[in-house]
Amino acid sequence: MIMTINELIKKILSYNKNSDFSLINKAYDFARKAHGIQKRESNEPYINHLVNAAFILAELKVDDKIIAACILHDTLEDTPTQKKDLEKEFGEEIANLVDGVTKISKLNITDSKIRQAESIRKMLLATTDDIRVIIIKLADRLDNMRSLNYLKEDKQKRIAQETLEIYAPISYRLGLFNIKWQLEDLSFRYLQPKLYNDFKEKVSTKRREREIEIKKIISIVEKELKKHDINFEIYGRPKSFYSIYKKMLKKNVDFEQIYDLIALRIIVNDIKECYEVLGIIHNVFKPITQEFDDYIANPKSNMYQSLHTIVIMPDGKKAEFQIRTKEMDKIAEEGIAAHWQYKGIHGDYKFDKKLSWLKEILNLKNQKTNDFIEALKLDLFSDHIFVFTPKGDIIELPKDSTPIDFAYAVHSDIGDKCTGARVNDKFVNLKYNLSNGDIIDIITSKNHIPSREWLKIAKSSKAKTKILQALKLSQNIPAKTIKKFESKKQNIVETEIDAKSIKLAECCNPLPLDKIIGISSKMNDVVIHKENCINLKENKKIEVSWNDDPNLLVNLKINANDRIGLLAEILNSISSLAINMEKAEAHVSGKQLAECNIKLKFNNIEELTKVINRIKKIQDIRKISII
Ligand code: MN
Repeated sequence: MIMTINELIKKILSYNKNSDFSLINKAYDFARKAHGIQKRESNEPYINHLVNAAFILAELKVDDKIIAACILHDTLEDTPTQKKDLEKEFGEEIANLVDGVTKISKLNITDSKIRQAESIRKMLLATTDDIRVIIIKLADRLDNMRSLNYLKEDKQKRIAQETLEIYAPISYRLGLFNIKWQLEDLSFRYLQPKLYNDFKEKVSTKRREREIEIKKIISIVEKELKKHDINFEIYGRPKSFYSIYKKMLKKNVDFEQIYDLIALRIIVNDIKECYEVLGIIHNVFKPITQEFDDYIANPKSNMYQSLHTIVIMPDGKKAEFQIRTKEMDKIAEEGIAAHWQYKGIHGDYKFDKKLSWLKEILNLKNQKTNDFIEALKLDLFSDHIFVFTPKGDIIELPKDSTPIDFAYAVHSDIGDKCTGARVNDKFVNLKYNLSNGDIIDIITSKNHIPSREWLKIAKSSKAKTKILQALKLSQNIPAKTIKKFESKKQNIVETEIDAKSIKLAECCNPLPLDKIIGISSKMNDVVIHKENCINLKENKKIEVSWNDDPNLLVNLKINANDRIGLLAEILNSISSLAINMEKAEAHVSGKQLAECNIKLKFNNIEELTKVINRIKKIQDIRKISII
């Protein structure tokens, strides 16, 4: 599908009669000249990609500036055009948008490991102070996915994986459902080509039979709703291949069991009518009570609202209804873009660094467990910043970190030898406060050593510890200083010797009330094992005991099979024991696996044992350990 500039303008006219076509035409001419003879992999002129991407945005009814910026989005990266040229021609706002998109492209996302996907998503949301940049990036990615067949297979797979892991979840968070399912299905096509083709074939052979069934249900529902004098629209809802695939995995069923469930959507005028229609449908067909969800009373964190219910048809088959108002439907399809439309075509796009829009969503006070987890995740990274190495690797640091923290986060050797830094190509001093998205190049000098001053400048505990170590080595400062600093952090286990570090062994995973023994290295690093651990052997054993200090903070790591509501269940069981929780966080740690990290303050060791035993009983928990 190749869009022309005329088709694009026609599309824009359909929702914005006052569109500034001179701006769009100017951007088009500028981009065409700048890209010159550049071609896409498909051998089409490069400008086609830019118009196609802009068309995707026009479908979201965005304003002229976003369209223009989208048409220009590759000029800074692929052509000699400079930001100041764009500023001169199109003004600062558009130049900044293009610059923002270029910055994302320069990140080394492609080389990052998948385990970094969560940080990349967080980082993308945290580093962009203008959400429009991300929307343009998503349109760019969608058009690239549509022409993925021109690339080599390994590249296809890599890009599809990245799209599935990073860009589809971001579109979900922004509520851009139309973009999300297209990204997912295109990724699925390249990642699982056999399954994809199998699905495609099955869908086409079943199409007629299915259409007849849908018509039958619609006619029953129509008759009933008309009796009640309700204005409505009803239609069969196609299911995306990837959503079928995900449900197959989740429910462990085959294609037919998901696909054969007829899905219908009913759109009405107001909320009152939504519940009326629900009542009518439940009156006509038998509902499956546990399949009912009220996302009107409890919106999802991406603003999604709708009633969901599954009912049993007279022939015993099941049908799923989604009931919502026109506005809700718009938000469900267009997410944040619909939000702008309500604010008017000149709505506010500038968000503060923390993305106030996402914060706003959090204030919807969701009770739904899955949204609770989303909300928690978003809240937890507000005290961190994400910055980059010149190669584009992401480094997560505490807020207000300095180049010293960054240097030590990269490597302790770089930290020790750090004499200065260039942040975004500008020289800065070591006290400089880093912000989200900064690209940092550390300047080192071979014989340099850290100064005591640095302890005041560094924010991260890693940097502080390393600085102290280096100072101790170079100046032979009294060991007392080190102890003073380290004593801030108490250990869950007390030892008879002055341990430098204490770790619980992974082999036997000792937990409170277990009988334990310590093994000490020459450097006084102590590892704690269960007394009966088979790995103890002939090492030097030392006396240890559990620390029963009432103010002790303990980090629990919980590994579990990932499922909706898991973290909420864990948190509930902790709060039911009235234990103070300092921090909680969950992330996906592998295929269908989740890792939760919880920081607790407990009054005595029995209390901690209670918590652990309670959590152990939760379904899907695999392992609990103290870290
Ligand atoms: Mn592009």
